[in-house]
Amino acid sequence: MSTGKKTSLELFKLRKTLNTLASKEGRATELISLYVPHGKQISDALSMLRDEYGTASNIKSTTTRKNVQEAIVKVQQRLKLFKEPPENGLVIFCGAIPQNGAGSERMETYVIVPLEPIKIYLYRCDSRFHTEHLQELLREKETYGILLIDSSEATIATLQGKRMEIVREFTSGVPGKTRAGGQSARRYERLRDQRLQEYFTRVGQHANEIFLPIETLKGLILAGPGPTKYDFEKGEYLNYMLKNKILDTIDTAYVEEQGVKEVVDRAPEIMRKVRYIEEKQIMQQFLYEIGHDTGMITYGEAEVRRALEAGAVKTLLLSEGVDLLRVTVKCTACSYQEQHTIKSQMLTSFEQSLVGKACPKCQAPSLVIAETQDVIDDLAQIAEYANTDVEIISSETEEGQMLKNAFGGIAAMLRFKMQGS
Ligand SMILES: [Zn+2]
Repeated sequence: MSTGKKTSLELFKLRKTLNTLASKEGRATELISLYVPHGKQISDALSMLRDEYGTASNIKSTTTRKNVQEAIVKVQQRLKLFKEPPENGLVIFCGAIPQNGAGSERMETYVIVPLEPIKIYLYRCDSRFHTEHLQELLREKETYGILLIDSSEATIATLQGKRMEIVREFTSGVPGKTRAGGQSARRYERLRDQRLQEYFTRVGQHANEIFLPIETLKGLILAGPGPTKYDFEKGEYLNYMLKNKILDTIDTAYVEEQGVKEVVDRAPEIMRKVRYIEEKQIMQQFLYEIGHDTGMITYGEAEVRRALEAGAVKTLLLSEGVDLLRVTVKCTACSYQEQHTIKSQMLTSFEQSLVGKACPKCQAPSLVIAETQDVIDDLAQIAEYANTDVEIISSETEEGQMLKNAFGGIAAMLRFKMQGS
């Protein structure tokens, strides 16, 4: 289901899952990736898988044959749970993944409903999962406007994902800076200014007409060689809403298609910067509340958890760098249960520390790990019940570093003051 706005949390989770999947390797060509777009019949995909199952019977290696066929059956089972592919389509990854060296393979299955509709219908059996089509989709959701201008030419283009389109090109009709002989210098200058004004007005009108109706317009990039772009920006040529969306003004060597390509090459860097600006603003608000001792913030895992459970959190701030697990320990002899937050890499030694340890309630040495969950997922889940916004903050800005290092990566802005905090 497309809900329109993609939260930083949804994106973070999907990116994390895809990165994990992309890093997995099979022991042979036996990992299956299946993309089924909306509009494709589930029955077609199932019959294609039946054929693949048949073809797989020719595989020489017994282990590989068994793994491939087993994976195909798993995919079929998952697929049968759907009457038709969801609105955004369906992606299934399945295969035997070595857990700890050769011979330790375990069948893993992942069903992903993309955040945006997929168009591709694809079956692959490879030594890796083909996540790249989903990765691409992550980059493709917003449109950026590009306006290149110098005193002789202007170009208006849009960029959506990797798709660049030149919408309109202009020539200025503005005469060069050096006048022809015989004209008075002042008169020439006035004429040139007037032409430049007309040209700016014309470009501005077209830019407004083209960019304003684009609902997904995330921002505008102003570019071109020389100072003309700044003159254009300063004037009243662009609608104020577009002016507010200017992300960056950059120097290029060209104005035409070549210039657009220069901007496109730098677009990923500009887009990252946009998110960094958002993150900086969020963090600066947080730091303001601290600096002014307003009592409207809290930080640290335990404090934030308490505030979340009380429904007091307006915005939950989580650093991408948080690498903590929420572990539930249970006694198998009685009903005793406790929870701990530990660093991810400490899981094994934590598990070992439970061996032979007496249960605080019944004294039996029967404590085991019942459940582990990423702390980010755990807190985000509580946030969902409390209707709290979740912002995942990168460590790429100074403020983001501060969240990670000075506040333990977990902080909150509050709806109301907490008692005793
Ligand atoms: Zn017990």
